[in-house]
Amino acid sequence: MSDTTEADQGTIAGTKRRQEMKDYKRILVTAALPYANGPIHIGHLAGCYLPADIYTRYQRAQKRDIRFVGGSDEHGVPITIRAMKEGISPQQVVDKYHALIKESLEQMNISFDIYSRTSNKVHHDTASAFFKKLYDDGLFEEKETEQYYDEKTKTFLADRYITGECPICGNPNAYGDQCERCGSSLSPEQLINPKSTLSDAVPVKKKTRHWYFPLQNYENWLKEWILEGHKEWKNNVYGQCKSWLDSGLQSRAMTRDSNWGIKVPLPNTEGKVLYVWFDAPIGYISATKELTDQWADYWCREDTKLVHFIGKDNIVFHCIIFPAMLKAHGNFVLPDNVPANEFLNIEGDKVSTSRNWAVWVHEYVKDFPGCEDVLRYVLCANAPETKDNDFTWKDFQDRNNSELVAIFGNFVNRGMVLMHKLCNGKVPPLHQDLLDDFDKGIIQEIEGIKTKVEYLIEQYKFREALYEVIDLARKGNKYLQEKEPWKKAAPNPAETSQENQKQIDNCLHLCLQLTANLAILINPFLPATAKKMLHLMKVVDKMLDWENAGKLKLLSIGYSLRAPELLFRKIEDAEISAQVEKLRAGSLKSEVRSAKSEIRSQTSDFKPQTSNTKAQIQYDDFAKLDLKVGTILSAEKVEKADKLLKLEIDLGYEKRIVVSGIALHFKPEEIKGKQVIVVANLAPRKMKGIESNGMILMAEDKDGKLIFVNPDQSVQSGSSVS
Ligand SMILES: [Zn+2]
Repeated sequence: MSDTTEADQGTIAGTKRRQEMKDYKRILVTAALPYANGPIHIGHLAGCYLPADIYTRYQRAQKRDIRFVGGSDEHGVPITIRAMKEGISPQQVVDKYHALIKESLEQMNISFDIYSRTSNKVHHDTASAFFKKLYDDGLFEEKETEQYYDEKTKTFLADRYITGECPICGNPNAYGDQCERCGSSLSPEQLINPKSTLSDAVPVKKKTRHWYFPLQNYENWLKEWILEGHKEWKNNVYGQCKSWLDSGLQSRAMTRDSNWGIKVPLPNTEGKVLYVWFDAPIGYISATKELTDQWADYWCREDTKLVHFIGKDNIVFHCIIFPAMLKAHGNFVLPDNVPANEFLNIEGDKVSTSRNWAVWVHEYVKDFPGCEDVLRYVLCANAPETKDNDFTWKDFQDRNNSELVAIFGNFVNRGMVLMHKLCNGKVPPLHQDLLDDFDKGIIQEIEGIKTKVEYLIEQYKFREALYEVIDLARKGNKYLQEKEPWKKAAPNPAETSQENQKQIDNCLHLCLQLTANLAILINPFLPATAKKMLHLMKVVDKMLDWENAGKLKLLSIGYSLRAPELLFRKIEDAEISAQVEKLRAGSLKSEVRSAKSEIRSQTSDFKPQTSNTKAQIQYDDFAKLDLKVGTILSAEKVEKADKLLKLEIDLGYEKRIVVSGIALHFKPEEIKGKQVIVVANLAPRKMKGIESNGMILMAEDKDGKLIFVNPDQSVQSGSSVS
C-alpha cells in the first residue's frame, strides 16, 4: 500500500481505513447479475456496473489483488414465460440477451475479469453442491402446500400470473395479488373468472412439495452481524436491512416447480428446480471458479474483502438471504460491504421497461459513438448514491458541454497548445527560485488531491470523488487565467525575454504535471479519456499507477509531446432533442405494442414488474368486441360499495344497466347525459346483487385519475365503434 500524506493522518477514518486495508489481502468485487430477459439500460449502469467498475479500476491502479466477477442470471419464471410467448426455447431467450448484455457492458468499458452466465455447467454443479450441503446438514424444511396450477401449460402460477375481474371495482384485468385500478389487495380466490395469463386456462389448486430455508433461525445472528457489526454500511442499505429484520424473518421456499433452472439434486424431484434467487448469487462463486484455480482464496479466506455492488431492489437478497445461506454453508466469507445504489429515473419518471421508458445502453453506444466516457461521467456525477436521482438529456448535454468540454477538456487542451506555442513542444523546466504564490498554490492542490480522492473512493463516494477531480481541472484553468503566460511572450516567441520565458516555463511545466495527474485521477472513472491523454503525452500505461498521483515529476523536462487533440466534443441541441423525442415516441409506441418485448428491468423474482402492456392479439380477437356509443341516462350510487355507480345507458336499440367502478371519481349528477363507449357484448355479471350488462371504457392517467373515453362530438346512441 502506498504511503499516506499529512492530510490523512490523525483522522479516525484514515486510521480505520489503513487498518482495514492491512487486514485484507485481496478484494473480490461482484456486480448484480443482470436478468437475461432483455437489454440493459442506463439505470443498470448507474445502479451497480459503473460504481463496481470505478472501484475495481481504482484498486487495480493501487496494485491490489482484486477480481471483478459477474454474469447473466439466466433462470427464473419470466424467462420461461417469455420463451412461451415468443415461441422459442428458454435457452434461445438467454443466449440472445446474454450476448447483447455482455456486448453492452464491454462497450461501456465495464472491466469484468469474467462475465459468465448461470446456465453454465460449472454453475449448475456449484449451485447443486451448495444446495446439497445445506440439505445434508438438515437445514431445510420440507413442506407440502397447495398452489395454483395451469393445466394447459403445466405450470404452477405465482399470483401475478393469474388475472381476472376485480370484485371491488370491476376492473377486468386485476392481478391475483392486487387490483391496479382500485388498489385493493386481492388473492386469486377473490377474482371473478380467474385465468392464467399464460394460456387463459382456469387455474386449479394442486399440491406441491418444496424445500424452505428457515431464515428466522438466522435472525439473531443477522441482527448482530448487520445492525451491530456493519453500522458503516450506507444509510439506505442499513435502513432497509433494519426494517426487514425488525419485522421478522420467515421460511422461504428455495425450490420451484419448473423445468428451466437447476434441477433439485434430490431423488424424485422431477420438474423441480432451485429458486432463481437461491442459485443466482451462487453465480458469483461459480464465475470466480471459472476465472481462476485460486478461487477458494477469494471465497474461503477471512482476509478477503468481498464487496457486492447492487441496486436497491436487491438489498434483501444480498444482505439477508445470501449471507444467511453463506453462514449456513459455513465455508465462505461474508460481504464486507454492500454499497447499493438507489434508482435512476429518466426525465422525471420511473424507468419502465414495459413502457419502454428507458435509455438503452446498446442504443446509446450507437447514437453517440466514441462518447462512452460522457455517459460514464454523467451517470457518476449524478449517481443515485443516497437517493433516487433523475437523468435528463438536458443535464447530460450540460454536463458534457460545461464540465467535460469547458473545464476538463479545455484545461488539458490549453496547456498542450500553449506548450507547443511557447515552449517548442517540449516539457519546459521548473525554476524553483522563481515560484510565486500562484505556482505554490497549484502545487499544493496537486499534492493534496491523492488522499482526498482515494478516501472518497474507499468510502464508495464516487460522485464526490469525481467532483474533486473535475474541481482540480477547474483550479488548473483558474491558475492559467491568473498567470496568463501568453501575455509574457513576445509576438515572436524567440524574442521573449529570458526572465519572462522562465515565468512561462514554470506555468506550463506545472500545467503539464497537473495534466498527467488528471490522467491518473480520471482513469477509474473515464478510462478511455485517460488512455487518450497517455497518447497525447507519449507515456506508457504504467504512469496511471495510483502511487503516481500527487507527484510533480511525472513528465520529464525536455520531453516532447504530441500535438493536442480535443478530448471531448460539444453535444448539440439537435442531438438532445432527437433523444428526447425518441424516448417519448418509443414510450408511446409501447403503449399499444405487444407485451412480446416486455422486459424485466431488475432481477427480482418475487413480484414480476407491473406492466401496462398486454399480450398481442390478432385482429379477429379485436373484432369479437362489440363497441357501441352509449348515453348515460341516469346514475346512482350502489349501496355498501364506495366505488360503484349503477348507470342506465341508452344504446339506441335498448337501455342497459352497467355497474362501473367510478364512484370515487364522479358524482352521479355530473355524468348524466355523457356519451361513453360501451363494451356491449360483455357477458353479464352480478356486482353487489345488481346484474351489470357491459362495461364502459375509461382512460386512466398516471395519477390514477379516470377520464371518459367518448366520441369527440355527439353521435347517435348505439353507433358502432371500430
Ligand atoms: Zn379493483
